[in-house]
Amino acid sequence: MTEKPGIEKDQDERGEPLRVSFLSRRRFLQGAGGGLLAATSLSTMAAAQERLPVDAIGRPDPQMTTEPPIEPERRVGYAVVGLGQYALNQIIPSFAESRSSRLVALVSGNREKAERTADLYGVSHDAIYDYDSYDRIAENDEIEAVYVILPPALHAEYSIRAARAGKHVLCEKPMAMNAEECAAMIQAASEAGRKLMIGYREHYEPHNLEAIRRIREGELGTVRVIQTDTSRPINPDVPADQWRVQRDLAGGGSLFDIGIYGVNGARYLSGEEPVEIRAMTHTPEGDARFGDVEDVVSWQMRFPSGITAMGSSAFSYQANRFSVEGTEASLQMQPATDYYEHNLSIRTQDSVEEVQIDEANQFARQMDHFSEAILNDSEIRSPGEEGMQDVRLMLAIYEAARTGQPVAVDWEYGRPG
Ligand code: NDP
Repeated sequence: MTEKPGIEKDQDERGEPLRVSFLSRRRFLQGAGGGLLAATSLSTMAAAQERLPVDAIGRPDPQMTTEPPIEPERRVGYAVVGLGQYALNQIIPSFAESRSSRLVALVSGNREKAERTADLYGVSHDAIYDYDSYDRIAENDEIEAVYVILPPALHAEYSIRAARAGKHVLCEKPMAMNAEECAAMIQAASEAGRKLMIGYREHYEPHNLEAIRRIREGELGTVRVIQTDTSRPINPDVPADQWRVQRDLAGGGSLFDIGIYGVNGARYLSGEEPVEIRAMTHTPEGDARFGDVEDVVSWQMRFPSGITAMGSSAFSYQANRFSVEGTEASLQMQPATDYYEHNLSIRTQDSVEEVQIDEANQFARQMDHFSEAILNDSEIRSPGEEGMQDVRLMLAIYEAARTGQPVAVDWEYGRPG
């Protein structure tokens, strides 16, 4: 098995900033796909990279280049809001691998943690804000963009305040608690003349992009069925999981937190928007973790071309795989939306291709996409409207599960481009 970059530890339960050390990581074991199969054809890395880049909806992606970093003073300055596990362990360390983004400010309710993080990453203590002094970011011209990495219930407020302070906004998934909040975020950015992007890192991840390219180019024949399963066991003893089991902070349970990858994945793998949704939920009795949020959600979506997608999410076991069944071939990804490891294979009746692509820092790529959209005033691949579509679909999934009836998707949404 090839060595792939990864971090030693995902989270520090005390909320300490962690230095990331890129070391070998084999979180998903050989049985994840490749190790069990006899590869009958291999596309070389060079060939795969030659075909790249495309974007998450299969368009050529001029921003996904191997161009060298731009001069530090021209890079877009970011304030990161909320110093939790994702900010400290994935996003903030990734500025070092970005080409057009730099960390210039921190926003946190914990001054001591913020100062330690600032010292680690060379941020001035004058550029540390708390949630009360947050609006003062307007006075700091070094901050051009704000990256909101708070629990979902706070996404709308802190995104809107950032836009009103004159900053571009990159906000984590799920975009917000409901469609009204999403619409308010989009409106605030528009009124301020600022850009709004949602943190769909997998739109910038090479294996997902390659899967989309293969599907769009017809390698699978006509796609009939898509399956997405994205789950992880939740542990409310860990601080980062405490808000995840509170509906008023998280917006929902497994679906809002991790199922969103599968909902979004079904959309970018099919390249279509669903027209009908059916769903069921299951929450085991007697499991104290699930007093407020659901454990298992399973859903079905019907797409205009006739593609059926099935998806599941849960907070009680680990799963991370996509599969796409076409008339000529079948595509598997497992892990599909991991931080550091992905496997992509394509099978026909008599062959298996293990697609070889280098892992890339999708966190840095995502930020650079946003920075370059700001610098060049270019289109954003995962704008607010994309985040709003998933929020509406997830709420429709809950409604379908609650009523036991199919829900028609009758609002209009078209992907950018
Ligand atoms: P954490 O709980 O680890 O971090 C959230 C941070 O928000 C806290 O550390 C705290 O920072 C701040 N905060 C402010 N108010 C509250 C509150 N009432 N309750 C809890 N925290 C609060 O969560 P994650 O980092 O795992 O997730 C943060 C966001 O990032 C979520 O939207 C999540 O969905 C998203 N995420 C996205 C991932 C992806 O792959 N795209 C992966 C993981 C998370 P401070 O102490 O500095 O004030």
